[in-house]
Amino acid sequence: MEVERKWWGWGAPGEFYDVSNRPNLWSFFRKYGAMEEEVPSVTLEDLKTNIPEPVINRSFLDEITEALKKDAVKTDAYERIMHTYDQNCMDMLLLRKGIIRRAPDAVIYPGSHGDVEKIVGLAHKHDVCVIAFGGGTNVVNGTVPETREKRMIINVDMGRMKKIIKIDNESHIAWIEAGMPGIQLEKELNALGYTSGHDPDSMVYSTVGGWVATRSSGMLSNKYGDFTDLTVSIKMVTPAGTIATPVLPATSAGPDLNRIIAGSEGTFGIITEVVIKIFPLPETAKLNTFLFTTFDQGVKAIQEMVEKECIPALVRLVNEDEVEFALKTARKSKSWFKNKAVDLFFAYLSKIRKIDMDKTCYMILGYKGDKKTVRHRQKITRKICKRNRAIDLGRGAAKTWDEGKYDLILIRDLIVKHGVLTDSAETATVWSNLVSLYNNARKAILDTMQKYAKPAWLGCHISHVYRHGASLYFLFGCKEKKGEEVEQYLDIKNTATAAFVSNGGTVSHHHSVGVLHQPYLKEEIGETAAGLLLAIKKKLDPKNIMNPGKLIPGSGNGDKP
Ligand SMILES: Cc1cc2nc3c(=O)[nH]c(=O)nc-3n(C[C@H](O)[C@H](O)[C@H](O)COP(=O)(O)OP(=O)(O)OC[C@H]3O[C@@H](n4cnc5c(N)ncnc54)[C@H](O)[C@@H]3O)c2cc1C
Repeated sequence: MEVERKWWGWGAPGEFYDVSNRPNLWSFFRKYGAMEEEVPSVTLEDLKTNIPEPVINRSFLDEITEALKKDAVKTDAYERIMHTYDQNCMDMLLLRKGIIRRAPDAVIYPGSHGDVEKIVGLAHKHDVCVIAFGGGTNVVNGTVPETREKRMIINVDMGRMKKIIKIDNESHIAWIEAGMPGIQLEKELNALGYTSGHDPDSMVYSTVGGWVATRSSGMLSNKYGDFTDLTVSIKMVTPAGTIATPVLPATSAGPDLNRIIAGSEGTFGIITEVVIKIFPLPETAKLNTFLFTTFDQGVKAIQEMVEKECIPALVRLVNEDEVEFALKTARKSKSWFKNKAVDLFFAYLSKIRKIDMDKTCYMILGYKGDKKTVRHRQKITRKICKRNRAIDLGRGAAKTWDEGKYDLILIRDLIVKHGVLTDSAETATVWSNLVSLYNNARKAILDTMQKYAKPAWLGCHISHVYRHGASLYFLFGCKEKKGEEVEQYLDIKNTATAAFVSNGGTVSHHHSVGVLHQPYLKEEIGETAAGLLLAIKKKLDPKNIMNPGKLIPGSGNGDKP
């Protein structure tokens, strides 16, 4: 790997969730199944000796090694292990158990668009499968090789293609190599006075190419749009040739090719360059938190903001279970007075204001822009929240969340080690269906979790708001059933996705389809549209070498996770 990362889990080796000074954290996790002791795990050295023998297509390997730079082709066990799984909880369980059924047989690091053309061309010639790899942050097994694939599989890690190629300052667009990680992109753009406006929680590792390939959505999507809205042009290498969509502000020249490529998850080709919109850095950024008496009341307030065309850049409505999580895992202030003030405030809310504190939700609002507009929006949204009986908590909780937002995933690794099964499932639907989908999906997911363990925890938040509806992001956690962890995981995850589609939601708002959501795709888009995707794939990739088995029903070997 180009950057050193843990062999299982999130982050760099030695990077862990800081549990110090969080007095209620462990009692909260124990309530939901965390054990005192750690679940035993294999070591990286064990995995290296256990990894299946590679399938080698000798002619391909010789030709590609000859065609690329000296250190571009890797076949060692470490590289193969690091590119076997992506980032869901099941992947973590399998790694810790030492289970690798199929790994990529080689990992290749292109340094340029030309290198990618050579790789895809030779893979097509020799019938070798190709999995594009950005940051490996996918959570639906989009980069995981198919177990039953008999052909050689190569993983093409884009980690060496991470340059800003050029910037057009007059048009506010930038040409970016596809392997550019979010955090580096933002740092380099900020230094030039710009932002990309895209800020997913996976920012540290996820890449521009991965964002296009999965139709990613960032925390500021209300202001800047989802990544598809931010994409001006795409260059993609397919077995049938290279497609470079024109750099235009708009066009009516036939179907929107960018939107055909966006979300293709490496099944059509490898994206090598993306032209994106860039924005001058906002003059100011402000945060607010409001406490709502119920989730529904918070939803009503957001709808009012939409009607008034006054949606903050960031809206995050957190349900009562996520509030419990936030309170129980929070750091205690070093100041006695501050802690006392918080206790007194909560006592005042429950005793004097008669608010049922177990039902309260909070909403984080984030504003970005010029000072005048931000002030105006803060004023209007505060009025809307108050009209919906919300209490203004200032910026405290929002600031705490903002400071720790990229590290929350480290909690996953902490509790997985202690026997808790945890992950997310997310969807989106129109306003008229939102509360009903929320209630139905919540009941279905909780019922399934409680088959295995009680109590089970299920948080939910809204974090992406549109004129016609919003996303719902569920987070679940419960004690794992020893020996059946993978089945239990799939049962909960499948329950969630089935509940979303049968209740009028999408299989995924921004996590894409991969393997885990694929069985539900036809129900969402229909037979004819699924056939259209397959027809495009057959035209661009006649030998079905590009990430077979992902996204498109009927494109794989019928692998089950
Ligand atoms: C902690 C965490 C937080 C997350 N938060 C968010 C979030 O806020 N918003 C969001 O949208 N997603 C989020 N995700 C999901 C994930 O980060 C996104 O799907 C992201 O867009 C994937 O980018 P990547 O570069 O890591 O792609 P990868 O995981 O490497 O690949 C994802 C898919 O895209 C394909 N692909 C990758 N690069 C290319 C390329 N250059 N050409 C063609 N195909 C390619 C792969 O083959 C695979 O099918 C989160 C995931 C985690 C683990």
